[in-house]
Amino acid sequence: MKSKSKKDQGKDRSHIEIRRDWCKGCGICVAFCPKKVLALDENEKAIIERPDECDQCGLCELRCPDIAIEITTL
Ligand code: SF4
Ligand code: SF4
Repeated sequence: MKSKSKKDQGKDRSHIEIRRDWCKGCGICVAFCPKKVLALDENEKAIIERPDECDQCGLCELRCPDIAIEITTL
């Protein structure tokens, strides 16, 4: 019997840390994330909406003008 093919879970996972106190809600990280991982909440702070989609490209960390995002590989 064939098993359903699941999405590849073998890749390294990442931990995304958002320092809410430093985030000014500019939305740059949301716009640059190619995987649509990030979003802004009702308080205009960046949140992690789809953590499993993050591929650790680092663009959010690189582009955030306030150094409010840090990506670490687990
Ligand atoms: S780029 Fe930085 S300051 Fe701008 S919304 Fe994202 S985390 Fe906040
Ligand atoms: S590291 Fe890349 S994929 Fe992950 S949240 Fe940041 S921009 Fe998106």
